[in-house]
Amino acid sequence: MKSLEQMREDLVSINISILDLLCQRARVALDVQQLKKKEGIPLFVPEREQKMLSELVSRNRGPFPDETIRHLFKEIFRASVSLMEKRTENAMCVSRSFRSQDLVIQIGDKQIGKDPIVIAGPCSVESAEQMDQIGGDLSRLGINFLRGGTFKPRSSPYAFQGMGEPGLKILKDTARRYGMISVTEVMDTRAVELVSEYADVLQIGTRNMYNYSLLREVGRSQKPVLLKRGFAATIEEFLWAAEYIVSEGNQNVILCERGIRTFERQTRNTLDISAIPLIRQMSFLPIIVDVSHAAGRKDILAPLGRAALAAGANGLMVEVHPFPPVARSDSQQQLDVGEFSKFLVDVGLDPRPVEEVAGLLTAQTHATRSPTQGASS
Ligand code: PEP
Ligand code: MN
Repeated sequence: MKSLEQMREDLVSINISILDLLCQRARVALDVQQLKKKEGIPLFVPEREQKMLSELVSRNRGPFPDETIRHLFKEIFRASVSLMEKRTENAMCVSRSFRSQDLVIQIGDKQIGKDPIVIAGPCSVESAEQMDQIGGDLSRLGINFLRGGTFKPRSSPYAFQGMGEPGLKILKDTARRYGMISVTEVMDTRAVELVSEYADVLQIGTRNMYNYSLLREVGRSQKPVLLKRGFAATIEEFLWAAEYIVSEGNQNVILCERGIRTFERQTRNTLDISAIPLIRQMSFLPIIVDVSHAAGRKDILAPLGRAALAAGANGLMVEVHPFPPVARSDSQQQLDVGEFSKFLVDVGLDPRPVEEVAGLLTAQTHATRSPTQGASS
């Protein structure tokens, strides 16, 4: 009989042998993964895992019961799978590990990913007059990015669906007139070509974040893409959606956090502030925050905007309408230009006194009118 000391030494050396074998197994598993990827074979085959387990159990001569053997090897298999997943994640083209520097997207003479930007404009393009009025005021406030939906994803099929192509033309003309960059949503693969003819930035809405054929299609276009986070998407799914676009050759993706659906009813969505620093850690892509669709109301937009910028957002999106009470969509959450000029000062993006900023507006009545006066006029 060996001494206790000798048996302990035996155990230590067996541990080391098991460790060596585990690492050897992991290296083979990674080689298998690489080969499968190259040949387009699915990475995980549950039947194969089942077969390996049955074979191991059939060879088990004790003293461990079969259940313990099954449990131990399942853990080993699981560890290999998570190693493969980690490697796949690191191989993401949108990941920080792929590129350490922040991406700065150049659009004309404007940049996204450096100083904070603001994308503002109405929920929907409604008329040439509406767009001219808002475009003029926003450009006087120093806003360079003009938004406006012309294909609207509405919950009801009977609600205003947007102006379509005539709206695209109005948006483009207005943006050109005021030297602004236009941003508008594309909802359908068949419309990508058309929308690209007019818009400077293609927006993918929250409902379409999982529309992989649409993501691939905008990935094949030459236009920068503003990708909104799905309202029930995890951060990882959001980044994979961006990966779909980038994998087709279009690296110019601007991520947009716009709130996720939770049990809370005071706001339309819950703005996920933690997503901002996390995404900035995980990816080099710029990320902006749409405070309007997150809140679904006007009164808390400035604190949300400040929080977003403090958390590292590269910009904000805000819905602004010349006269929100008559807006054909999202009327409750759109700011008028007066409210918007105050918002800019409140979030710290306009250093001038609020009166001076409001003085730049043509529609000065909005800037000075109280909500009750506004509603009755
Ligand atoms: C929008 O920005 O016009 C819009 C519809 O937003 P979301 O897709 O985030 O709801
Ligand atoms: Mn809207």
